[in-house]
Amino acid sequence: MNSQNEVPETFRALRVFKDAETVRAELQTLPLSELPDGDVLIRVSHSSLNYKDGLAVSGQPGVLRRYPMTPGIDLAGTVLTDDSGTYDAGDRVILTGWGIGERQDGGYAELARARPEWLVRQPGGTDATWAMSVGTAGFTAMLAVMALEEYGVEPGAGEVLVTGAAGGVGSTAIALLAAAGFTVTASTGRTEEETYLRGLGASNIISRDELPALTRPMEKERWAGVVDTVGGATLAGAYASTRSHGALAVCGLAGGSDLNTSVFPLILRGVGLLGIDSVTCPQPRREAAWARLARDLPASTLEQVTTVRGLSEVPELAPQILAGQVRGRTVVDVR
Ligand code: NDP
Repeated sequence: MNSQNEVPETFRALRVFKDAETVRAELQTLPLSELPDGDVLIRVSHSSLNYKDGLAVSGQPGVLRRYPMTPGIDLAGTVLTDDSGTYDAGDRVILTGWGIGERQDGGYAELARARPEWLVRQPGGTDATWAMSVGTAGFTAMLAVMALEEYGVEPGAGEVLVTGAAGGVGSTAIALLAAAGFTVTASTGRTEEETYLRGLGASNIISRDELPALTRPMEKERWAGVVDTVGGATLAGAYASTRSHGALAVCGLAGGSDLNTSVFPLILRGVGLLGIDSVTCPQPRREAAWARLARDLPASTLEQVTTVRGLSEVPELAPQILAGQVRGRTVVDVR
């Protein structure tokens, strides 16, 4: 048996602990008995850093449901054993969402246990670095693009706005929309990233301050579609400026969780306000999204978006992603 396929006695994990006053993240070596329940034992090679992971590792409330916990909402690796018989040893798998890194130990560890129905097989011709460069952020962007298309937003219908454009979801949404033939306008607080955003396929770059503030329930029609990662006033403004029978795929809350608006765009313009939840996305849709990601977001495109960092660097990166200072996607090499 290849040593990579042997089950080790211990594994390294980034654990988050909470005591009366503080929450702290620490690398530890643990016995296998510390792993959660689940039929499939996976040797994790890569994870990624998402906004939610930044919250978890920094000890912000609302993500980790118990302590100690291993964060990391994404992982990619190789199956070591599967008591359900679904997977063979050596199968390469991807896991995003389903509560890992929130309610159950996640990807910031050399080993993970999971249910077989949570896993997606690594698409042919791709590797674990690619999968984690996509990660929850890219998967969410794919779900957002699919939702817009299913609503009837077509290339040629006009500009599609992407907010939080230089972030993980935003960057991958731009690349996916451009690959599908849409004209993309990127809204960013980092206009110095113009070259990067144009390189991904954005035709127009606007500063986040340029987005019209919401003054009336309906503004002049501009966007054929919107992928929003920011929420709050940004989403309210984009919604009021969406064209008749256009749609918004609502993904995130990087700028705020409120949504103060009216029903008018819904009932007078037929605008679609579409919710995106990557965590509980049903399995057939997951597989369809990953197959299309493999087709439309090749490693060569993702390389310009991706930085690879080590597991020990995650604690210092966590506050940076919360401060909006991390560009694109960060892959975490856990080996
Ligand atoms: P990132 O931190 O990589 O990107 C967020 C981007 O939002 C930043 O890069 C920045 O873009 C912009 N931004 C940050 N702070 C503000 C602010 N105060 N006001 C306006 N814009 C701001 O995070 P992700 O891309 O990983 O996630 C983005 C959002 O989507 C998060 O809220 C996350 O929780 C959510 N999400 C939801 C998922 C779902 O299933 N629904 C799955 C994945 C993520 P710029 O510098 O270009 O302005």
